[in-house]
Amino acid sequence: MILTVASGKGGTGKTTVATSLALAITDISPVLLDCDVEAPNAHIFLQPQFDQRREIGLPIPEVDAVRCTGCGRCAEVCQYHAIVVMGGKVLVFPELCHGCGSCTLQCPEGAIEEVPNVLGVLEAGPAKDGIYFAQGVLNVGEPMAVPVIRELKRWRPFPEGRTIIRDAPPGNSCPVVETIQGADFVLLVTEPTPFGLHDLRLAIQLTRELGIPAGVLVNRDGVGDDGVEEFCRKEGIPILMRIPLDQRIGKAVARGEALVEAFPEYLPQFRELYTQIQSLIDSRQDAALPQAMGTRPSNDAKAGWS
Ligand code: SF4
Ligand code: SF4
Repeated sequence: MILTVASGKGGTGKTTVATSLALAITDISPVLLDCDVEAPNAHIFLQPQFDQRREIGLPIPEVDAVRCTGCGRCAEVCQYHAIVVMGGKVLVFPELCHGCGSCTLQCPEGAIEEVPNVLGVLEAGPAKDGIYFAQGVLNVGEPMAVPVIRELKRWRPFPEGRTIIRDAPPGNSCPVVETIQGADFVLLVTEPTPFGLHDLRLAIQLTRELGIPAGVLVNRDGVGDDGVEEFCRKEGIPILMRIPLDQRIGKAVARGEALVEAFPEYLPQFRELYTQIQSLIDSRQDAALPQAMGTRPSNDAKAGWS
């Protein structure tokens, strides 16, 4: 099973939920992938010993000024405006380049060579209680998170067949889409507030467009209003668990303690959450389960390298 824990907005407790869920099912030795590559922090709670490392990057163009005639064909074919020709000279903007290779293929003089541009690293190793942990870490200032997430999803430093929990980046942008794609289920963590509802709507829309079933976990239950409750009821989205507003939880998390370790009374609830998700996946053809049509392929043309 591949389960993604996501949320339409940051600060809802997504990582708290993902790590506690992993700690609640250690009997099946799950894998936790921290896909929030711009700010990975699940390692704080699971304390992995990293023994595997891979650099991830994209091939970007390098122009041989002697062979280049300044014809401008490379700039014409680049969909991302990552290469421009000014006054007969070629300029490459690596931060915009998607490594698609079109410019190299189209250059009539064979003046372009592809060179690696490192975007970030993947790290992996055993963590607490038999959990296997892997994370992507994007280089500071690097905007291309998607190739790093894609390679983290593909990487298999652990045996096949284990349950995988992906901790998604916050929001609903491309890195989140990449994290969700290929999952069997998306658990959306939200707060019962108007802001939480606004972002939950967008996140539900996204999971429906991707054709992946979703359920909701309401965190900080007791604040705000009943908008989230109403929305889920109307849309037929199952609310699978609630965690009440409790300052003690916030303080424990701030100390780097996982929720189920600080408050073991939550362990049965997280185990039950996992069982419910399993049954929902098993019965995904059931009309009651929210599902949408079709899955969109990713836009990025090339995989990373190591
Ligand atoms: S297509 Fe090739 S020859 Fe033409 S400007 Fe670009 S690098 Fe130079
Ligand atoms: S590799 Fe693709 S994205 Fe990068 S500069 Fe060339 S055409 Fe543009």
